[in-house]
Amino acid sequence: MIYDYLVVRFGEITLKGKNKKQFVIKLENDVREKLRQFPQAEIKRHFDDLEIKLNNEKSADVLNVLKKVFGIQNISPAIKVGTDLDEIRAGVLRVAEQEKGAQTFKIAARRKDKRYPIHGSELNQDLGGTVLRHCDWLNVDVHNPDLMIRVEVGYHEARIYGKEVVGVGGLPVGTSGKVMLLLSGGIDSPVAAYLTAKRGALIEAIHFQSPPYTSDRAKQKVIDLSKRLREFGGKFVLHLVPFTNAQVAIRDAVPEDYRITIMRRLMFRIAEKTALKRGAMALATGESLGQVASQTLESMNTINAVTNLPILRPLIAMDKLDIAQIAKQIDTYEISIRPYEDCCTIFLPKAPRTRPDRTHAERFEHKLAVDALVNEAVEGIETIVIDSGSTQDAVSELL
Ligand code: ATP
Ligand code: MG
Repeated sequence: MIYDYLVVRFGEITLKGKNKKQFVIKLENDVREKLRQFPQAEIKRHFDDLEIKLNNEKSADVLNVLKKVFGIQNISPAIKVGTDLDEIRAGVLRVAEQEKGAQTFKIAARRKDKRYPIHGSELNQDLGGTVLRHCDWLNVDVHNPDLMIRVEVGYHEARIYGKEVVGVGGLPVGTSGKVMLLLSGGIDSPVAAYLTAKRGALIEAIHFQSPPYTSDRAKQKVIDLSKRLREFGGKFVLHLVPFTNAQVAIRDAVPEDYRITIMRRLMFRIAEKTALKRGAMALATGESLGQVASQTLESMNTINAVTNLPILRPLIAMDKLDIAQIAKQIDTYEISIRPYEDCCTIFLPKAPRTRPDRTHAERFEHKLAVDALVNEAVEGIETIVIDSGSTQDAVSELL
């Protein structure tokens, strides 16, 4: 490979007006964090892009990591030459020869320094002619070229770019604030976590478990999902809620067809308390409209009534197949289909109420010590931080 640099462009961040600088600094920090595994790479922030000098690091390896960083629109490998026209010509030829698979090309040159004596269109013609003369396998196609060679002439140097690679897009993690996501072991909620993080939210997850009815392997499944999700942000905080007593109390006091509704109302109360403690401004779930009994509008109304926090449901309008496809892309699918029991599946009715009514739900809750059950669950939360692939109790770090 001839490329000494990777140039990272931000895309949507550039819409953020006065906040742009903050966004770019956050992205720069995220990139630095991710590239710690490539100690020789040097990162420099410019107004429009981040420039990574590879030194001896492999461009393909660094690219693979950058492709997962939220806030990056695209990445181009690049070489740098002086602003002398002969040097630029030679540089363009090196790029054309490197990208051997292409049959057609186009030059897209521009002057960043308007004092540079040769205009963009003249540069295009000159450099295009140079390529045609030296590379007999290449023809010009200005509409749909296999290879677009971009050239940017700056004050002291010119950059020549190879094939652009598309980034994951979105916004840098944390720039939208913190969200408490209800993470089950299923297919949907990890995808909801990914999509919410992609819009710049810092995700913390809360998981309800009911030992001994749910096993250690079910807990391990959620930890493994969290490890995958960590790859998209920094460290990942997971709150494990002891939910057995609440579920047993619900089973003993609530008619079968309302158990899911009441159970979910308790989950939301516990999640809200945890969110407020941790500075999260919203809850998020993997619900999708009409997917199961607890995901009808009537059900969502009855369940939502226990909290004033906004509840983000990024999958609300998505079909299961589309959700599963994203789960496969982000490598959570294989973990999610492991067959261990979730707390929701124990004590559950064969025929849950699909249109639960709020006043009925409130009446059934009078027979439960709701506040005590919620407080007991919140106090019993075990919090772990997942960082660099390991899990550790993080109580001290969180205080
Ligand atoms: P998923 O695939 O995410 O488990 P689902 O289709 O199985 O979703 P439900 O079981 O009704 O649907 O759960 C809906 C949402 O409620 C989940 O997406 C998740 O956000 C939350 N949830 C369900 N069970 C748990 C749990 N044990 N701990 C935390 N959140 C849960
Ligand atoms: Mg589920």
